Amino acid sequence: MPPFPEAAKSATENSQMRHNLRLATDTIRGKRESAVSELDDWSDLRQAGKAVKDRTLRHLDTYLEQLEESVTAAGGTVHWAADAAEANEIVTGLVQATGESDVVKVKSMATQEIELNEALAQAGITAYETDLAELIVQLSDDLPSHILVPAIHRNRAEIREIFRDRMASWGVPAPEELSDDPRALAEAARVHLRERFLDTKVAISGANFAVADSGSMVVLESEGNGRMCLTLPQTLISVVGIEKIVPTWSDLEVFLQLLPRSSTGERMNPYTSTWTGVTPGDGPQEFHVVLLDNGRTDVLADTVGRQALRCIRCSACLNTCPVYERTGGHAYGSVYPGPIGAILTPQLRGTASETEASLPYASSLCGACYDVCPVAIDIPEVLVHLREEVVSQPGHRAEKAAMGVAGWVMGGERRLDTAQRAASAARSFMPRRMPGPASAWTDTRDIPDIPAESFRSWWRREGAEQAPDPGGGEHGPDAQEGGRR
Ligand code: SF4
Repeated sequence: MPPFPEAAKSATENSQMRHNLRLATDTIRGKRESAVSELDDWSDLRQAGKAVKDRTLRHLDTYLEQLEESVTAAGGTVHWAADAAEANEIVTGLVQATGESDVVKVKSMATQEIELNEALAQAGITAYETDLAELIVQLSDDLPSHILVPAIHRNRAEIREIFRDRMASWGVPAPEELSDDPRALAEAARVHLRERFLDTKVAISGANFAVADSGSMVVLESEGNGRMCLTLPQTLISVVGIEKIVPTWSDLEVFLQLLPRSSTGERMNPYTSTWTGVTPGDGPQEFHVVLLDNGRTDVLADTVGRQALRCIRCSACLNTCPVYERTGGHAYGSVYPGPIGAILTPQLRGTASETEASLPYASSLCGACYDVCPVAIDIPEVLVHLREEVVSQPGHRAEKAAMGVAGWVMGGERRLDTAQRAASAARSFMPRRMPGPASAWTDTRDIPDIPAESFRSWWRREGAEQAPDPGGGEHGPDAQEGGRR
């Protein structure tokens, strides 16, 4: 995947995709705003969500062990996966042990992160996605572009064509006369998936939350496909990131209010499925949890960056981000697009490669993502922190030299004054476009006009005489800096 600026440039040339995205994000944003504005205590809830997540992350080792004990006591089996390869190996082995070669899947970011479908395919196991948007993505050999609505970049007409062209090679074909009416498309998907639900003996899911004190897994979804996968098969394997833990059911209550309002703009989501271990004669009779680290403990070690682990994957930050709305999700080169992807992917994968190093710059730092985040992740703060990490690596010589000179000039009043006078005197010679590597800056921005006189100089000349003197003491910029020289 190319670095973000390159990928974004070609993505923004796709006017159809931009149109689809603008329509979809506009609609979801509006629904979220009205669902959130119904609650007088939204900011208290938000602070409660933040506090629960922070407390859990501080004692993560304790809660993880508690979860393992609870799941085991309820008849499930816990597996620990340090990275994607280990998780894929565990899941593949578990499916092979059942003797099955097909699995149905509930939408799961964790399994996308580790590229589980690809690993299963290499072992001769076919994974069938059952979430409508994931089904569209799978049938079209595409990649997801949004956390909640993976096919957000597609419109109805495109989806109809995908169903018509591809459904037959994956099972029940789409009807010949299929229209692009949303109900007709949903019905075609329902009929196509029905036999999968009834025939397949193994299901793979993620979990939105894992409750430590009872060992319960929780999935929130809108279509009912999750409920089918979680109840009909004989074997259920849940791949869960270690940050998905909440200590108790009362902690869960906070997130069951925050998540639906922030994601789909609903008071509560249509299906909330919870399952705890194995119940004889009811639901899957074999249950495995794969607890996935894959870089998360490294993120936890970073005192600024660790707040990204509070994320509940609601996607509100994507829907409000002006950069995401224009570039779409594919430009981020990761299953985690948008503002959360710009801080999570470089932390999970490191910033050594050009693609990951470019992600913290995929933002104007407007702060809209922070305003809507239901667990108050200060995404701009983490972005700036990661930029610092990127520029502290070898390279960036011109940038470092420029910042060194700027720091030296601004570090002394006389030097700054001289530089400002020189810039004002030379303002008529200022080019509209900078030469050399600096042109990367001015290609997309206007150089601001340099004023004929700096504020400091104006203040010396005018301000000190005009400003009131409440206490008879010194004031103004020179006073703060030790007086006029
Ligand atoms: S960072 Fe916040 S707003 Fe974005 S997906 Fe995560 S929880 Fe939602």
